[in-house]
Amino acid sequence: MTTKPLHPGQTIGIVGGGQLGRMMALACAELGFKCHIYCPEENAPASQVAHLTTCAAYDDLAALADFAAQVDVVTYEFENIPADSIAALTSSKPVAPPAQALKVSQDRLDEKTFIAALGIDVAAFYDITDIASLEAGLAQTGGHGILKTRRFGYDGKGQWRLGPDSDLAQVLDALDGQPAILEALVDFEREVSLIVARDHAGTVSSYAPIENVHKNHILHQSTLPAQLSHELTQQATQIAETLAAALDYIGVLAIETFVTSAGLIVNEIAPRVHNSGHLTQDACACGQFEQHIRAISGWPLGDTQAHSDALMTNLLGDDVLAWESWAAQPATRVHLYGKAEAKPGRKMGHVTQLKKPQ
Ligand code: AMP
Repeated sequence: MTTKPLHPGQTIGIVGGGQLGRMMALACAELGFKCHIYCPEENAPASQVAHLTTCAAYDDLAALADFAAQVDVVTYEFENIPADSIAALTSSKPVAPPAQALKVSQDRLDEKTFIAALGIDVAAFYDITDIASLEAGLAQTGGHGILKTRRFGYDGKGQWRLGPDSDLAQVLDALDGQPAILEALVDFEREVSLIVARDHAGTVSSYAPIENVHKNHILHQSTLPAQLSHELTQQATQIAETLAAALDYIGVLAIETFVTSAGLIVNEIAPRVHNSGHLTQDACACGQFEQHIRAISGWPLGDTQAHSDALMTNLLGDDVLAWESWAAQPATRVHLYGKAEAKPGRKMGHVTQLKKPQ
């Protein structure tokens, strides 16, 4: 990676055209950068606010090479881009976060193996290839566990909660030959995410931990700050610094954790800005989107200090119809993603309610 900072007027390439790309593109505009989106969809949320879009498939290597020729640095906004495509871009332009971070986060077995090897706690996990390995895994986890596909799972898709009464043959049928892992059930008090940024020089800067509540496996609300003891907050910072350094990371990294009586257990990492970090846009001196663009552009990291406490609520599907009443609330910021169709469960926008810190 170049260590020279990009200049205003240069172009940031973003692979992916969803709401995360849209908010990154808005941050690019604020810092005076041009933004070029690469995604297969027409009129994607990010394209609506970007300078240019290349509309092509994620595995179209010729279109990717053409895109790379037109930008100064490449980043990405979602995990399911083929790691080979990102690796191919690396041969012509700086890519951040590094392709290796994407590769590790794409496979739950690799991810948990990587994290555990750093001495960071994860749920006990087992590689599942057939009914015998599933039975053997469940014998280790006391008969209960969560079976997850190794790849392409999100928002609870590709997951099965198993107990002594589960029909394992039926579950394996539903898995349809996809590689999977079995995780022991973690008895957690709450879920907390860590949003951290690392720059070219290896400086790491963390936001205060954020507490998350899910509904139907999709993030519902996030609160800043999380209720976390001083000791666990220190553990969170240490986990974030260890992971970011081990991945030789540049950009914003999200780490999802479980808070247990024995300390923090890492569930997964996302090599990108994260839904639970949206409230940093409104509650912190420098939000996660600007922070990410600063990090990948070789700029100094911004200030992660919160000037307000915040509650973020996702607007899923028809929730977005309430935009007018949200807009009338004091100390509330409304963010809508420009999506035409409010399908059930689709992330249409979010609102952030701000409060004076206690
Ligand atoms: P994931 O797709 O790994 O983010 O999991 C989605 C949600 O399922 C998490 O946010 C937790 O609420 C729950 N979950 C996942 N893994 C475990 C586990 N090993 N033990 C208990 N709950 C879990």
